[in-house]
Formats: sequence, structure tokens, C-alpha cells
Amino acid sequence: MRDPDSEIQKLKKSNLYREIKFSSLEAGTTFEDNGSKFLNFSSNDYLGLCSHHQIKEAARNALNSFGVGSGASRLISGGTLPHQNIEKESAEFFDKEAALYFTNGYCASVGTLGSILQKGDTVILDKLCHASLIDGSRLSGATLRTFPHNDLEKLERILKSVTDNKVSNTRILIVTEGIFSMDGDSSPILEIIKLKKKYKALLLVDEAHSFGIYGDKGKGIVNSKGLQNDVDFIIATFGKSAGAAGAITASSRIWRDLIINKARSFIYSTAPMPSQAAAALEGLRIIQSNEGDLRRKKLKKNITSLCDKLNLDIPAGAIIPIIIGDEETALKKSKDLMKSGILAPAIRYPTVAKGSARIRITISSNHTKDCLLKLSKALMVSES
Ligand SMILES: *Cc1c(COP(=O)(O)O)cnc(C)c1O
Repeated sequence: MRDPDSEIQKLKKSNLYREIKFSSLEAGTTFEDNGSKFLNFSSNDYLGLCSHHQIKEAARNALNSFGVGSGASRLISGGTLPHQNIEKESAEFFDKEAALYFTNGYCASVGTLGSILQKGDTVILDKLCHASLIDGSRLSGATLRTFPHNDLEKLERILKSVTDNKVSNTRILIVTEGIFSMDGDSSPILEIIKLKKKYKALLLVDEAHSFGIYGDKGKGIVNSKGLQNDVDFIIATFGKSAGAAGAITASSRIWRDLIINKARSFIYSTAPMPSQAAAALEGLRIIQSNEGDLRRKKLKKNITSLCDKLNLDIPAGAIIPIIIGDEETALKKSKDLMKSGILAPAIRYPTVAKGSARIRITISSNHTKDCLLKLSKALMVSES
């Protein structure tokens, strides 16, 4: 039998071993680990909402009204008013007929893909899609194909070959993201929609990193380009820019009905705490508000100022990858940054391809000028 110790040693030897960190502070731009304080450039709390007083209050109010646990799955008796409201307001926000709230983005991906697809169908993913989309595709039993990142020619070649051999009554689903979580760039949605129509495929766009920060009112990439009628499924997560937790799949009403009846991560799981849904809903409301506009403006200013200092191109979202290459150097660089009081993780295989390890910097609207100055100084020192 394989013993766990030898597996751990192997991970350590190849610089792929990971450990959990704990902070003694509430989520924000400072992280405290074992008495040392770090400036946090590793969180997806882009709009600084994780510890926003209104979101806390919304959670507390829901706690008082609905209790802590939901007690059962949504299809049994776990649903409450906050669950219903987040679905209604998310559907309106994304301008789709309906939305379904899941415990988190991972469950939304796996549940949605597992409901749309079955054996005999084909799912075509961008090579850089998030692990949850890959896992959902695999679990669905559909044939899984990938195309090189944003490579439309290769996508079309796959679509053509799948269509040429298509059995009637089977589905083809294209999967991409609004902003890619480890590279920080976006996808050519309009061109993908043209292909989707030409080959009669379905399209799912995961807006985990674009929801809240991209486009007018933070509506994400699909809506900001007015393409919501051409995208069958939008996934958005509330654990990042919305400062809470959970995720929705926005779609037509009929697709939502099917997902409710087929998504195993939805059916066989206790409903998220009502306070979680209420917090996510408040996050969604702040995102659409004037305060949301101000926070996005500040975020944009922070990103531009940092990229100017470091001579980098301005990214589509708030993720700035600094590609290093080998895992050992990336790990060392991240440790050096920690010595300068900066928390910025080394992202390694299997999150990204082997040999494309990187320091992943994420910016928040709550970072101050001083924070950004310290980061750029530390990066320049560890460069030389
Ligand atoms: C973070 C993320 C998820 C998972 O969302 P959680 O709510 O953290 O489980 C799904 N898809 C993408 C693209 C993500 O970046």
C-alpha cells in the first residue's frame, strides 16, 4: 500500500507541498500569522467587502430571524427568504430569467455541468478553466475536450469535428471564464458566441473574477457587452468581490428547473446558512450601489498605479500574475516577499501548468497608497 509519508516527501522534493495559514484578524488587507503581520496581496476580496459593516449586519439580522443552520437541503425544507431573494435579485442583475444559489462556486460548477451534460455529450473547455469546471466536466460523463487558452481557431476545429460526428439529441457545451483566475486576462466572448451559434452549441461563462469589478455596476463581462441573451449559463461567486460566500448559476427558467432536479451538489447538500445568503445578497446590493462605483474606481486607481510603478500592462481585472517559471524560484520569491512583510502566494502546479509557476498578486480597493508602495519596493528588491 502507498504510505502517505512518501507522497508528502515527493511533494516537498518537487516544491509542490502546501500548508494552511491562519490569521488572527478579520479578513482584510492585513494578515497575521503567528504574531507576524503581513500586507495581504493574496485575497480575492477585490472591493474590500469581506468585513463591511452592512454585510455583517445583514448576516446578523438573518441569524436573528432565521437561526443558524438551515436544517435540510433546499428541496426538503432548508430554503428561507434570503435564499429566495438572492436568486431573484441575481437574475435581475444578470438580466437572465432565473438564478439558482449554491453553497459555493465549486458546487455551482460541478452541479451545473453535471445537470447539463451526460455521457454522449461533449464539453469543450478553455485549457485555463478553473479546477471546478474541469471536475464538473469529468464527473458529468461527457467527452471532455480542451482548446489552448483563448485559441479560437482550435476551438472551431474541435467544434467542427464534434459536429461532423454528432449523434442526434446530444449537446455540445463551450466553457470559458470572464477573467481567468491565474492569468488575469479575459476571453473573446463575442467571437466565441459567433462560433457557438454557427455550431449550435451551448455556452457557459464563469464570471467568478469579473463579477463585481468589471463593467458598469460590476455586471461582469457578458452583461457589460450586452451579450446575456447569447450566453446560456453565467456562474458568479459571492466569495470574492461580494465579500460573502455562495454562487449562482443564472440561466433561463427551464434550465434552472432542470438543474434543480439534477444537480447532485444542490440536491444532496444542506442549504447554505440563511445568514450566508443574506450576506451575499447585501454584497450584491453594495456592488450595484454608488458605493460600489466608488470602490471600483478606487480599485482601478490602485491597479493602474501599481502597474505603472512596475511597468506592467494593465490587466482586465484585479489579478496581476508575475510569471517566474520554475516552482523552486517562485516559492523562494514568495518567501522573500514574506520577509518584507508581503503576503503574495507562489501559484504552482497543479493550479497552473508545470514550469509556469508565478507570484499572483491581487489588488483590493482597500489597499492604501502606502501598501502599494511597499509592495512595489519589495518586488523590485527581490527582482535584483
Ligand atoms: C473561485 C472560483 C470558483 C469557486 O468558487 P468558490 O465559491 O470559492 O467555491 C469557481 N470558478 C472560478 C473561476 C473561481 O475562480
